Parts: sequence; structure tokens; C-alpha cells
Amino acid sequence: MLGHPGGEEHSSYLIELSFLPPPARWLDMGAGDGSTVRLLQSLGYEAEGIDLNPRGDDVTAGDYLQPHYPEGSFDGILSQCSFYVSGNVPKALRQAGWLLRKGGKLVFSDVTEDVVQLLDQVRQAGFAVRHLEDLTEAWKEYYLEALWTQDNVCLPRGKKVTYIGFPVLLLGLSRMYGRPLPICRALVSGDACPKGVMDALERELGSKLYPHYGSRECGLGEAVTCPAFEGMHLRENHIIPEIVDEGGRVLPEGEYGELVITTIGMEAMPLIRYRTGDFTRILPPCPCGGVTRRIDTVSRREGEISMERLDSALFSLEILVDYRAAFDGTLHIDARTVDGQGRERLTQAANDCCPGRTVMVRVSSAEPDDRPMYLGKRYVQ
Ligand SMILES: [Zn+2]
Repeated sequence: MLGHPGGEEHSSYLIELSFLPPPARWLDMGAGDGSTVRLLQSLGYEAEGIDLNPRGDDVTAGDYLQPHYPEGSFDGILSQCSFYVSGNVPKALRQAGWLLRKGGKLVFSDVTEDVVQLLDQVRQAGFAVRHLEDLTEAWKEYYLEALWTQDNVCLPRGKKVTYIGFPVLLLGLSRMYGRPLPICRALVSGDACPKGVMDALERELGSKLYPHYGSRECGLGEAVTCPAFEGMHLRENHIIPEIVDEGGRVLPEGEYGELVITTIGMEAMPLIRYRTGDFTRILPPCPCGGVTRRIDTVSRREGEISMERLDSALFSLEILVDYRAAFDGTLHIDARTVDGQGRERLTQAANDCCPGRTVMVRVSSAEPDDRPMYLGKRYVQ
């Protein structure tokens, strides 16, 4: 894995953009493992590299913000994803200008949070801008791969790595990653997040989750957990909630039943006493002092085997990355674990969850290229 997007192909492209013929003299500022220095040399150039932490013999240890070369030493300077990391882009640019002979070329690719400001800094360092390209798409591709393979990947200030998606996939990713995930915030959504999965996620992420309840039909989040972590406050300015029994009769507060919702102010698709198919109860006033009513944990009515209960039981085993469940009188579990082991533990957990059922468990090793075993809501097939 190279320390910049595009690999050697991109380095070659930058060199071409310079229009400097061999045997021009080049310096790679932030040369890393020296791969670009070797590439330049193979093309007939005279080339050397400097890096604070060189990872190859072709690179000199040193700070390019305080270089030891005389003024005007180079015909070309190249830098890839390094000026930003130096923490002082204007100084890096000024040093590049000082090290180049008159008419020399600087080619660099870098991360920036403000391209207009960067261009100003480039001009203030005495350069004229001849060519500019937006490499955001290449950088995204590189970044996704680098998240898995490198410890330190630079990210523009103010940008946060955010996960939005299914809870089980986040848990599986975290377990595959094998170290703290470099994400700053997560919205886990699209499927139920049973207690066992939520507890495991909180352990993996080192952070509390704030469960919420929502549905596409209502077009919004209908309820969200407050810092008291005792149920979810309903958005009563947008919905009128009721709990009903099987016959549709309204139940008193505190009794479990089906959640029925009437929307307020929805024009495109208003819902009037819409049966959600979700089961919960209304809770008494919250210790947080909030005035909106709360609902308890929400569950769906399921078949003979509850996927939510299975998820809760199986994902409490820290080895499990993903699994698929099918029931045809026998419960078949096709599981992926971090090391391809754990068949006995999974069988035991499934047996405890579904007493009296025959359970067959198959285990394989989870691989980075694996597709999720469910691309939508999880259910027993
Ligand atoms: Zn509250």
C-alpha cells in the first residue's frame, strides 16, 4: 500500500505533467519508502528523497521544512500527500520554491480543506499555477482501503469519518478491523438493534448508543432516547401514538400492544391510525423531566424463531462477524467468524436461545471481500 492515492501510475502522471526531460534533478519531499525516487531514477532522472521517517535506503532522513540543500538545487520537486501532513503548507511551499532553480517545476498532490486558500498559498510562495485537478474520487477510493491497512491516514480538519448503516454490519466491521475503528460518529439504522448487538457495539465502539425508532412510512424518526437511557421519547408534535390490542382496541398506558400512528402535518402521505406492526408500550413520565411520552423497546412479531433473539444471543460472542439463519424444522446457521473457529460456542448459544430445536452450525472465516449475508432487514429464511 502506498502512502498516496493512485500509486505508481499517479506518480508517473505527476512527472509527465512537469514536462521536465531527463536527466533533470528531482527532490521528492516526504519520500516515504522511496518508491517515487526509484521511479524517477528508472526514467533517467537524477533523484533523491527526504523524509522525517524514511522507510527505504533511497531516502535521506530529514525535515524538508529545514532542508540542508543549497538554494536552487533542483529542477523539479515532487510531493504526494505530504505538505498537508507537515502541518505547515505555506512553509513547505516556500521551501520548495527556495530549493528549485529559476524556472523549476513543483508537482504535488495533497489533501486540502480549502482549495482557494491553497492556491493563494502556492502563488504567495512564488509559483504560477499551470495545472490543477480535483482527485477527490481517487482519494476516496484510496482512503477506504487505507482505513484498513494503515494506522495514520490524514483527513482534512473538520471532516469526520461517519458510519450510516445497519447495526450488525458495523459490529462485523469493527470485529474484522481488530482495533478501534477510526470513526467519530455512527447512525445505526435500517434494522432492529437487539440488546445483545447494542451491548456488543457499545463495547466495540467505547461509546453509548442512543436508540431511536423510526419508519419509512412516517417519513421521520418517531422516537429517540434521551440521556436518561430509559425508553424513547415520542415526537408528539408530529405524531399521535396509540397502543392497541389485536382487535384494534386502544390499551391503557403501560400495556404492551401494537403501536398505531397518526401523522400530523404530513401532506404527501398522511397516515391515520396506521398499524406499524411494531410492538411496545407507553412508559410513565421520564426521569429526565421531558414532557413528551416515551415508548419502551420496540419488537416485531416474528415466526417460530426470532431473528432478534438469535442476533442478541449469537452476537454476544465476540468472534462472530456475520451469519445467516434458515429454519426448515432444523435451525441452520451459516456463520462467519474472525478466525473461522467457534462452531461449538455458536451451537451452544443457538441451542440456549432456541431450546428443543435441532441446530446445525457451519462456520467459515470472514474475509474483507465478503458481501454482507443480508442486504436488507435480517430474518430467519
Ligand atoms: Zn427522558
